[in-house]
Order: sequence, then C-alpha cells, then structure tokens
Amino acid sequence: MDFLKTLSSRTLLADGAMGTMLHARGVGFDKCFDELNLSNPGAVAEIHREYIEAGAQLVITNTFGANRFKLTKHGLASQTADINRAGVELARRVVTDSARDVLVAGDVGPLGVRIAPFGRVQPDLARAAFAEQISALADAGADLIVIETMTDLYEIKEAIRAARETRALPVVASVTFTRDDRTILGDDPAKVARTLTEAGADVIGVNCSGGPAQLLRILKAMVAAVGADLGVRPSLGVHPSLGVRPSLGVRPSLGVHPSLGVHPSLGVRPSPRVRPYFWVKPNAGWPEQVGGRIMYPADADYFGEYALSFREAGANVVGGCCGTTPAHIASMRRALDSAAAPAPLTAIPLPVEEEALEGAAAESELAQKLAAGKFVVSVEMDPPRGLSTHKLIAGASLLADAGADVINVADSPMARMRMSAWAVCDVVQRRVGVETTLHFPTRGRNLLRVQGDLLAAHALGIRNVFVVMGDPTAIGDYPEAMDNYDLVPSGLIKLIKQGFNVGVDHSGASIGQPTNFFVGAALNLCPPDLANEFKNLTRKAKAGADYFLTQPIYRAEDGEEFLSKYESRHGALNKPVLVGILPLVSVKHANFLNHEVPGISIPDEAIARLEAAGEDAAKVGVELAVELIEKVKPWAQGIYVMPQFHRYDLVAEVVERVKG
Ligand SMILES: [Zn+2]
Repeated sequence: MDFLKTLSSRTLLADGAMGTMLHARGVGFDKCFDELNLSNPGAVAEIHREYIEAGAQLVITNTFGANRFKLTKHGLASQTADINRAGVELARRVVTDSARDVLVAGDVGPLGVRIAPFGRVQPDLARAAFAEQISALADAGADLIVIETMTDLYEIKEAIRAARETRALPVVASVTFTRDDRTILGDDPAKVARTLTEAGADVIGVNCSGGPAQLLRILKAMVAAVGADLGVRPSLGVHPSLGVRPSLGVRPSLGVHPSLGVHPSLGVRPSPRVRPYFWVKPNAGWPEQVGGRIMYPADADYFGEYALSFREAGANVVGGCCGTTPAHIASMRRALDSAAAPAPLTAIPLPVEEEALEGAAAESELAQKLAAGKFVVSVEMDPPRGLSTHKLIAGASLLADAGADVINVADSPMARMRMSAWAVCDVVQRRVGVETTLHFPTRGRNLLRVQGDLLAAHALGIRNVFVVMGDPTAIGDYPEAMDNYDLVPSGLIKLIKQGFNVGVDHSGASIGQPTNFFVGAALNLCPPDLANEFKNLTRKAKAGADYFLTQPIYRAEDGEEFLSKYESRHGALNKPVLVGILPLVSVKHANFLNHEVPGISIPDEAIARLEAAGEDAAKVGVELAVELIEKVKPWAQGIYVMPQFHRYDLVAEVVERVKG
C-alpha cells in the first residue's frame, strides 16, 4: 500500500496507544519503553498484533522516546540506532505474519528538551538528533515517519526538516494541544496548521491532547486554515496551477518554499502538493488519577462514533492515543466499515470563559451592567505598601460580599509608593473573583510604559481602566521622582479607544488583536473653573471615554446643576456618570476636607449632625452617604465610593444598604 496514494481515496485507520498497553502489562512509567524493543520484543509485538487484528491499517513503532536526548537519561544513548531499528523490524515481522496490507510508521516523539529560543538546545543539535533517529527508522524499512505529540513549533520544524533531508519518506507531523486549544507556547490550530504545511509535512494533524470532542474542534480549525478546498485534491505528480490558488498564501510557489530548495530528492517525491492530508488521534479523554491508577474516561463505542465525525470533517488518518486500546480501534473499524453510519457528531464549542482570556475579549461586566441601565457600585481600594496582599484580599472580599460591582484600584495615590495597580487588580480578580477597574495615570509613564502596561493589564484579564492624570510626585514620599509624561488623559483615552481597541498601537502597528478596554475618565462636578472643566469633559468624551467617575460631592444638586449647565452649552453628555461618595467618619475629618481639600464643600447641616452624634459620628457618616446616594439616583448611573482610613466596614454597610 502506498501511504499518500491511499489517502487520496480513503480514510486509513491507525493503531491506538502503545504506552498504555505496555503499562497495563506491568511496565512502570519510569522505565524506558523503547528499550523493550531489544529486551522484550515479544510484548511489543503482541500489542502490534492486537491492533492489526482490531483492524488497524497502520502500526506505529515503539520508538516514541528513542532519541539521543531521552535515551541518555536511561544511559542508552549508544543504542539509539539499535532500538529504532529493532522497533521497525519487529513491527514489520508482525505485519508479514498477519498477511494483511498494513503500513509500518516510524514513530518520532519530542526530544524532551526545550529548543531555542525558549530553551538551551540549538536547532541544529535538535535536528541532528532527529536525523539520527529517522535515519535508523528509514534504514530499517519504515514506510513513513510519524512525528507526534509535539508541543513546540520550533522543535517540530526541525524534526520535519530532518525527515525531509534524510529520506524521501512521507512525513506526518502531529501536535498536541492544551485544554484551551493552544500549544504550550500559545499557538492556535490555524497557526500550527499553516506552520506544519509550510515546513513541508505531507500529513498534518493533532494527537494526544484531550478526548475526541476537543480534537474534532481542533481538526476543523486546521482544515479550515489550510485545507479549504478538500475534495478537489490535485492528481498525484501534477503540481497544481502555481500561484493562482488564492487560499495558498502559505506555499505560493516552489521557488520560495524553503525546504524544497534543499530537498535532496525532489525528483522522486511522489506529489509536491499544496494542501496537506489530515491526521487525528485523540486520547481517551483527559486522564484522571483513580486510586493511584491513570484512568481514561472515553469508551470504545464513543470512539466509533467519532471516527465518522473525523472522516466527515476531513481526516485522512484516524486512530487513538493515550488510554486507547484495541477495543477502541476495533470500534472505529466497525464504524468506518459500516454502511449505515450514525449521524456525525458536531464539535462541542469551546466554553466562552476559556477563550475570553486570549481571544476576542468579552465586554467587561461593568460595561454590560451600565448598558443594561443597572445602578452600579464601584469601591476604591489602595494597593499595599509592601508585599503582603492579605488585607487587600480581605477588604475586597468584604466589599464584594456586600454587593460592590467592581473594585477600583488606585495607582500610587497621593504619589506614595505602592504595589503597581495592575498587579493588585490581577490579585483581586483571581483571588476574590470580583471585577476591577485599573487606575491608569499618565504621570510618570512614557509611551513605552503606557502601552506595555496596557498589554499587561489586558493579558491579565483587566478590562476596565480609569484614565487619570495622577497626583504630582511633589506631594508624595519621593518628591524628586521623575514626573514626566508623554500623554495627557484625553490622549491616552484616544490611544486606547481609537488604537488598542481596534488592534493597533500608537504607531499604527498591529498588536495582534483588538483589546476591549472600557475606559473611564475623571470629572469634577464642583470645579474652580467651570468653562475649563467643560472643555476637558468635551475633549475626553470626544476621545472616546465610555463613562465618568467624579470627585466626591456632598450635595446632589451640585452634580445636577453641573450636568444641566453642560447640556445647555454643549449638548447632553449621554455617558454614564458614577458619582464620587466619600463617607465622613468624624467631625475632624469633615472639617479637614472642608477647609483643606480643593473642590470639596460639606454642608453645615451635615457637620452639625456629625457633631451631635459624638462617638457615633461614623454611623452618621454612613447615613449621610446613603441619603446622598438616594438623591443622585435620578441622574447618576452609579457611585464610586472612596473608603477613608481603611474603614471598609463602613463602606460595606453603605454598599449593602444601597444594593438592598
Ligand atoms: Zn497521548
């Protein structure tokens, strides 16, 4: 049987797991499985025999770990060639004895070391190790080379290149994915498919990873990326019309294909093709430890159903990986052979939460709540001065339990040294499970820092940013610290909304995908210069600010008046406003704010009530805050509460009463 020629007309069934079967026969996972080709060839041969009896048309040699790097760990490096040769020879003997038309595939697994640039092993050294193994497999008479369970595209490219340079055997290149449908280095199925095709593999695909449902999803993505016009595969030996196939950007012409130029035996390659064939060999589900044993959940019947789904989706070779047995392969055989095939299963879509981290980002919850007209409660917290985040987590938990929708994390408030706010947002989001808003001052950040920190925040899942000028360092604990900035707040809003959120940075270069930041801007409802505040507000709104967070106020009328004046001069704002609420804790506190903080004016009546309360002033502070919030509800879309002196307990009470 000619491997590639057969694939053009029908779906081949490969075998299932070798390691699982050897383990079931008592070989420990710490042992060198490959060495059994020499020391216990009978056990390996028996497994091949069972798979052939189950209906496999392709058996894979027991040489997955038979490379110099892995064998060195078992002190067997000097037997690399012998182990590989023995693996092919014993498989060949079983095939001959069976009198069936079965292919012997020389198996090549990862080297077990990281390749540069993410590891120390240089590409040429890796390629030499692959070449050594592949030469031995080819010399012993393997019909094809299967490079599988690879996690690193840098490594698999070296393996494909080694195979191409060694012998004109067909090459299968198969990658394993993590639960989020990416390789360990973060490449998605489309990228993997394009890379493997570009590197010159005849058959590309996916093995190991999770169970059949995940692999069907990945297979479809790979087929979509490089195999769109399946079914009109060009006939063998005839190169399809070069350069006129629009979907073939990955291999536009022979001349620019890197590996073809150095291919030693181009003339004898059966079919220089532009589209690969597809290979899929799932595990029997995600493994679980049950009573010290590794168990795989997917049974044989389930594999039979999926064999048809894989064929339907474009797979040319199907089989099983870890946890599969001859029973799984027999079930796939029956399904593929049966005329009355059950309806193929459709791929189960990846849950949205998993994809949201990397893929097109979902809107923040805050954005969704404001869009839905909910009155939102945002509470500000300061990052810790040192390394401990215990109090931060405890405070955020209390506030979240009380009903806060989002925690605002200040960035070095009063220009005092604190933990960077994006890290605090990450800690709060992960540990407490409440959404955060990242305060993002322009002060002290140049354009590199601004953009780098935005990427960092988005990568951590932070979607709400509050663009502020930031307090000048002169008032903080490092008055001599640099205070420069490249952007003013409206410029930063524009950079985020008109740059990052459409997928480009400040210079217009792509950042890979659009971010989905929900951008808040500062607003002073009691400004010293009304015309100037109106000008700033208009500029920020035009730059794309999504909503506004205000300085604290103590009279609802102040905000109402400001907004109606703005409307009469500039038109309605039409953006949500979260009103600043700063609960008073004592008369002294109120007097300080009243006399020493610009823009804050506390009504005499409020101070009188605090005075009358004596020891219970803080309780009255809560009452005053709740009353004020009720009064702003007609025109504000939420509140932005600023706890004082870390009195999260008082704020939790305010939040509870507003929400309740
Ligand atoms: Zn596996």
